[in-house]
Amino acid sequence: MYDVIVVGAGPGGSSAAYFLAQRNLRVLLLDKAHFPRDKTCGDGLTPRAVHMTRLMGLADELRQIGYVIRRFEVSAPNGHVTGDVIAIGSGLPDHALVVPRLKLDERLLRQAINAGAHFQPGVRVDDVRIEQGKGTAHVEVTGEQMNRRVAFQAQMAIIATGAHSQLLHRLGLLSRPPQFIVAARAYFEGVEGLGDAWALRFDGAPLPGYGWIFPVAPDMANIGVGYFRHQRAASAAKPFESFVSTPAMRALLARAQRVGPLKGYPLRDDFLSSPTYGQRVLLVGEAAGLVNPLTGEGIDYALESGQVAAEHAAAMVTSGDFSQQAHAAYDRELRDRYQALFAFCAGVRAWCVRPLVLNVLVRMANRRRDLRRQLTRVVLGGAPVRGRLTLWRAMRALIGV
Ligand SMILES: Cc1cc2nc3c(=O)[nH]c(=O)nc-3n(C[C@H](O)[C@H](O)[C@H](O)COP(=O)(O)OP(=O)(O)OC[C@H]3O[C@@H](n4cnc5c(N)ncnc54)[C@H](O)[C@@H]3O)c2cc1C
Repeated sequence: MYDVIVVGAGPGGSSAAYFLAQRNLRVLLLDKAHFPRDKTCGDGLTPRAVHMTRLMGLADELRQIGYVIRRFEVSAPNGHVTGDVIAIGSGLPDHALVVPRLKLDERLLRQAINAGAHFQPGVRVDDVRIEQGKGTAHVEVTGEQMNRRVAFQAQMAIIATGAHSQLLHRLGLLSRPPQFIVAARAYFEGVEGLGDAWALRFDGAPLPGYGWIFPVAPDMANIGVGYFRHQRAASAAKPFESFVSTPAMRALLARAQRVGPLKGYPLRDDFLSSPTYGQRVLLVGEAAGLVNPLTGEGIDYALESGQVAAEHAAAMVTSGDFSQQAHAAYDRELRDRYQALFAFCAGVRAWCVRPLVLNVLVRMANRRRDLRRQLTRVVLGGAPVRGRLTLWRAMRALIGV
């Protein structure tokens, strides 16, 4: 019998398993994939994510295999550009990183295993049930491994299965399909003039949405689009093709070649209305809808919520307190940390993705450094946001009107 079974070995699951193993708990980490495996992503690690990888002892290694980002740029729909350095304060690193997920996730998983977590790949989990014994209870996690039914037992489970919500529906934690962003990316090599900036572009991007250029090497970039409003079956392929066909993008990609296919994947950004726990189950990362509704960043929140879940799970297992209050304490901590920030970002997104507003905002940002810094902080999740934020307050916080 394990103390905790973690389902899903992406950033959220590996972080949870790492911090649990650090506390000497018996941890089993399961994933349907065999590693290294790719995950469709922009590969961008915000300063928050870089900070978490430091706590997991990976800072030096990731700097070596990743690409260091020191600046941030935003292009308005009319093509005007603003930007600043990535020094967002709050004790966070003064840089971001781009690390392909093929490498990042394998390193995070390895840290969890080195810390003492047991890992079983190739296990597709399809149920987590509470089993009642004589005066005791435990969870039974069942699934398929190489066409065989398998079952594992633990005191409790942490679910970190990302945007795929099938298991959460099965457990009755989600009753309808969650809100999501549609996004797609491709790698290009031979890209000229990349520098050390993350570029977020609204010119030629599928509004409401955005396009990005994240360098993974001096002449190679992860380029993609995210699209906010869509029909269920919408694909990001068309918006992607229009994004890379603008004159500005054609100039950037004049001598570049696409490496590998365009890959799309959904992002769950519904934390504001998402459940975060079930009976003896805590949800982390995208399984709890923890993706920034404005920027689509989720690696940072997955790593952070993995650590928070590990602390709460450790407290529950060691005290034997699996009461409703103990579960709710985890939800409270996530809400304290993220509710205001996510409400703020959702509010900004509601008006900020309009072309006219973006054009004005970028023009104003070029005149006012404080606005540029504030935009950078907001986009990178570094702005301390407290209290209930109405749209009006969001605008005031941004442009100081
Ligand atoms: C196109 C695109 C671009 C993005 N760009 C960025 C970016 O630049 N920066 C950023 O911070 N975020 C970005 N994101 C978001 C980011 O990829 C996710 O938020 C992040 O991966 C969430 O981490 P996670 O650990 O919660 O889930 P995931 O990384 O999705 O990991 C989930 C794991 O669970 C496993 N799993 C799923 N179901 C089961 C099951 N039933 N049984 C066993 N295992 C299971 C999967 O195999 C996977 O390994 C992007 C997303 C997309 C789609």
